[in-house]
Amino acid sequence: MLSVEDALAQVLTAFRPLEPERVPILETLGRVLAEDVTSNMDIPPHANSAMDGYALIAADAAEAGPEMPVRLRVIENLAAGYVAQRSVAPGTAIRIMTGAPVPPGADSVIRFERTHQEGKWVELYYASPVGNNIRYAGEDVRKGALILKKGTRIRPQEIGMLAALGQQVVSVIRRPRVAILATGDELVDVDEPLGPGKIRNTNSYSNAAQVIKYGGEPMMLGIARDKVDDLTAKIQQGLAQGADLLLTSGGVSVGDFDVVKKVLSAEGQITFWRVRMKPGKPLAFGHISAEVDGERRTVPVLGMPGNPVSVMVSFEVFARPAILTMLGVTDLTKPTVEAVLTDPIRSKDERRHFARVRLTREGNKYYASLTGAQGSGILNSMVKANGLAVIPEDWTEAPAGSRVRAMFFD
Ligand code: AMP
Ligand code: MG
Repeated sequence: MLSVEDALAQVLTAFRPLEPERVPILETLGRVLAEDVTSNMDIPPHANSAMDGYALIAADAAEAGPEMPVRLRVIENLAAGYVAQRSVAPGTAIRIMTGAPVPPGADSVIRFERTHQEGKWVELYYASPVGNNIRYAGEDVRKGALILKKGTRIRPQEIGMLAALGQQVVSVIRRPRVAILATGDELVDVDEPLGPGKIRNTNSYSNAAQVIKYGGEPMMLGIARDKVDDLTAKIQQGLAQGADLLLTSGGVSVGDFDVVKKVLSAEGQITFWRVRMKPGKPLAFGHISAEVDGERRTVPVLGMPGNPVSVMVSFEVFARPAILTMLGVTDLTKPTVEAVLTDPIRSKDERRHFARVRLTREGNKYYASLTGAQGSGILNSMVKANGLAVIPEDWTEAPAGSRVRAMFFD
């Protein structure tokens, strides 16, 4: 059986960053820039005031002090968004608001709090040196400079910068389309009544949410029955609709009706089908091919286990890095912290154990407490958890007090 690392390495060989597309600025959050962004302008575009105050000539105010105010004649009142009609000449000042362009002639701005205005005259109680409270053109961004590098992952601050540069449309790597298919004769959909022996399709929804969370576009293929023909048809539908990755859940174990592996080996190829982890041991990875518009398309398939917790953990470990790779993201690590277990965890079969825990912080230490029964169908202990504690495969037990690595879901 493969280790988690070896299995992940094999999975990742099947994925590359997808091609770029041009999208409106607000659709770029979390995505990766596909081109360098250079500035075709200075930001700010003009020298402007950093304060509400008076634009003046520094030399006029050089001698000002609380006991010896200097008086200047106020010749204009300038708001942000407007250009002064007049120049500042010796002995005069222009009342100016934050963001308004510094008028010609002025080389300094004194803020209101250091002055007092009466009618057309302002008294200055302090000197105001050259450059005081002036934001110069290009002090944030210089025309011609490389501002955002290709490969940058876009956060709100990059979006702000793109807006400042006037980039309404941006070239980013497109989102991967991830087809999601549940398998099982026992499944009914979320809006259908439960008949005898039936349960609701949980996995398609939790997986679709994970796809969205990590930046992909889910394609809901619904439920395939445990029949080779139905499964094959639904998978081919996913390929026809342009999936970049196909996720199935259920049907990869050793049960009598587990048909995913059968279909994978008939219509494509299986690279591996078990991983040394818990939950999530049955995990088939491979490719599947189909004729689409007269062309042969081959798409990677992750055949994940059916139990609602196993499938979510398998997604975190394998589907998440695959999706991020297609998005053009290069740092695939999930940040972890060291945590002290408050409960013992038994782990006797040489698999890496991902335990559902509540991580809390006291002082500078994290503690990890189990959120309940760890059966792979107990979704409630997933709901109560904010992370997973990772028990290495070579530990036979993890007593309370032991230190482990743990990852937060968010
Ligand atoms: P399987 O590997 O197909 O035997 O599935 C393992 C367990 O997960 C069984 O108890 C299934 O009923 C359950 N299961 C499979 N698929 C789903 C699903 N989409 N939603 C909820 N439970 C599922
Ligand atoms: Mg099944």
